[in-house]
Amino acid sequence: MSGPRAQRLFGLLVAACLVATPAAAQEGTLLIRGGRVMDGSGNPWIRGDVLIRGERIAAVGDLAGMEAADTVDATGLYVTPGFIDTHSHAGPGLATPELSHGEPLLAMGLTTVFVNPDGGGPVDLAQQRRALERDGLGVNVAQLIGHGSVRRAVMGTADRHATAQELSRMKELVRDAMREGAWGLSSGTFYVPGAYAPPEEVQELAKEVAPFGGSYTSHYRDESTYSVGLIAAVDEVIDVGRVAEIPVVLTHVKALGPPVWGFGAAIVMRVERARAEGVQVFADQYPYTASATSLEAALLPRWSQAGGRDSLLARMDDPETMARIHAAMVEGLARRGGADRIMFRRYVPDPSIEGRYLSELAEERGQDPIDVATDLIRGGNVSIVSFNMHHRDVETLMRQPWTMTSSDGDLVPLGQGVPHPRSYGAFARKIRVYVKEKGVVTLEEAVRSMTFLPAAVFHLPDRGVLRRGAAADVVVFDLERVRDVATFNDPHHYSEGMVHVLVNGRFAIRDGSFTGVRAGEVLRKTGRPGRAIRRP
Ligand SMILES: [Zn+2]
Repeated sequence: MSGPRAQRLFGLLVAACLVATPAAAQEGTLLIRGGRVMDGSGNPWIRGDVLIRGERIAAVGDLAGMEAADTVDATGLYVTPGFIDTHSHAGPGLATPELSHGEPLLAMGLTTVFVNPDGGGPVDLAQQRRALERDGLGVNVAQLIGHGSVRRAVMGTADRHATAQELSRMKELVRDAMREGAWGLSSGTFYVPGAYAPPEEVQELAKEVAPFGGSYTSHYRDESTYSVGLIAAVDEVIDVGRVAEIPVVLTHVKALGPPVWGFGAAIVMRVERARAEGVQVFADQYPYTASATSLEAALLPRWSQAGGRDSLLARMDDPETMARIHAAMVEGLARRGGADRIMFRRYVPDPSIEGRYLSELAEERGQDPIDVATDLIRGGNVSIVSFNMHHRDVETLMRQPWTMTSSDGDLVPLGQGVPHPRSYGAFARKIRVYVKEKGVVTLEEAVRSMTFLPAAVFHLPDRGVLRRGAAADVVVFDLERVRDVATFNDPHHYSEGMVHVLVNGRFAIRDGSFTGVRAGEVLRKTGRPGRAIRRP
């Protein structure tokens, strides 16, 4: 047999084979069947299937009859986009061979984390990217460029305004970072050296990220009554959005300390008013009433820290200056609600105080809490947990449609120090406590605040959503079993309830167990000045 007839028959045979084994023959396909598919947009779930091909989502919907190389049954489980953490201190940990797996992050459903928050992190993002990628990454990483780091690189910790020359050097560093693929500018105007910068300096640098489609996220200058006051600090962030015309984020939004309890509603009002005027203001939040910082940042006046640690110690040795520092520390402690609201988290010179309270130590030593604090600061860096928020403010801020979820967590070796439990639990806790127990937000709202919303605010073009063509970052969880296990006294425990976690189409967690696969990558923003951002 030959000629056209044979060709036709051959064609029919090929077609028959294709029909008989549709996607089955396709290597690298995965079908997640019969789950409660929540696409991340805030829409309620709909029963459906998700087909993944390689690193991408190939189809979402009723895919009955479809076959794939691999299938998991998601009956009774929720299928959502992988969670995105807009404020993570996991950068240094992820760059080490011991922690690059990112297991504590994956266990709470995270597939992407934004690093270098609070104005920190390195200035050379290319170098950081190489360090992050060296041992393989368990999660995706999106880099920010920190204002504080840029200022430090140019001016050290000088307590003064920048010269024109210094400012233009800072702009250059910010542009370099954006060219390397950063997603925006972060600041920590509460901290040294960001606190020494006037608002105009930050505005000028924020304008530099605008042509790249970057965003701005800020640990604002004052979450309490330290300097300009909470509301003026919120307005300062809003002004950046107004001047630079970019999305701005009040990161780990809060009203810190009894003097400002109830101010959550005032923050909402300021944000709503700015949004009505056309400013793109957002917030992110971790679901706890305790924060974590250093004892130095919590109690010391910023002027005492100018020039670095040696200068601080010299000032502390001068009795007159120490008297002024002491007075400011008394105010600082009152603002934090007293010594029984400060717990030590990490103190290298004396780990025995980790997990204990400042009030306990003062009583034991028969000393004033301020004197104990002063001695500790003289001895080395003191990390603390500070119980300083009112649950009503936390809930008021969480309910807002512009509030995303963040962890503000660290990634540290199991057993090291007493980290804030948010490092292990933030995302699971929001679901356990604020969705299931208190009903402050719905599951749809919580998932949206962890997926679609952060992707929109930071212009991540193809994540935070379950739809055809998007990156296959997917979590499948059992709502009944989702819970944070980490507590303030015993934080080193992974969260539970994530049945499957996929990063870029590959299982990082399968059937509740880590696979050891490191499919994460450093995500680089592809925008260039004057060019549109590529979108799928
Ligand atoms: Zn912060």
